[in-house]
Amino acid sequence: MATGDDPPQFRVLGTFEVTRGGRRCTPTAPKQRALLALLALHANEFVPTSRIVDQLWSRDAPRSAVAALHGYVTAVRRVLTPSRVSSRNSHPVLSTRPSGYVLVLEPHQLDLTRFRALAKEGQGAMAAGDCAHAWDRFCAALRLWRGSPLADLRGTGAFDHDIARLEKEYLELLRNRFDVMLCNGDGHLAVFDLEELCQTHPLWEGFHEQLMLALCQAERRADALTAYARAYRLLSNHAGIEPGPRLRSLHQLILNGDDPLDRVHRHERATTGSEPARTASP
Ligand SMILES: [Zn+2]
Repeated sequence: MATGDDPPQFRVLGTFEVTRGGRRCTPTAPKQRALLALLALHANEFVPTSRIVDQLWSRDAPRSAVAALHGYVTAVRRVLTPSRVSSRNSHPVLSTRPSGYVLVLEPHQLDLTRFRALAKEGQGAMAAGDCAHAWDRFCAALRLWRGSPLADLRGTGAFDHDIARLEKEYLELLRNRFDVMLCNGDGHLAVFDLEELCQTHPLWEGFHEQLMLALCQAERRADALTAYARAYRLLSNHAGIEPGPRLRSLHQLILNGDDPLDRVHRHERATTGSEPARTASP
């Protein structure tokens, strides 16, 4: 059962959230919340005071910033500390180092750590040809997302860089998952989502490529050519560039009437029934 003495849980894949013993304890003061979010994004890394000050005050820090930061650290520790533990420098979660801090978290205490571990496991499974396991891991990783990362900390602009990085990891995971769908021959199920992603992230050529492949798999080669024309237009309008070599050669393959599905992930699929029946060990 969850109690107030449980280690705090941090979530950054959505609104920033801290819970302890199942209860939300996210600091409401904006700078305290930003401080904790910043440390959570760099869990188990040393974060210099100078960097925290720069990010929290957007390089416009008053002379009193460092003193104010000490006050925030004390306040935040109170939130993180079970009543019976002293909240001095030897704090078990937020530890003070010379000229900086470290938020010490076990993997299960941060959704981002779990997300990255699942993504890596999924990629490993795919490389090993186990797309069923990869699918399971990728879906579990996606379920950790509760919305736009750090949605409540967007206003300040202080987290722009971190948010962009998280969004990139999210999109990469979607790409991996579409690869599994294509490998399974489920391209027709991916078309709708890919069309949307091509509009919202027009510069991700990988999505255009996957959309063209998905359309070919759905026996819609003419639509795949239209998708290429649209990708061409989007890339040109948004960035003044032309499709890269991968997209161009895929287009050429489809024009030539060749099989573009050679490009999708292939693994040795166990043919049902061909495996010798395993008997349980006595
Ligand atoms: Zn596969």
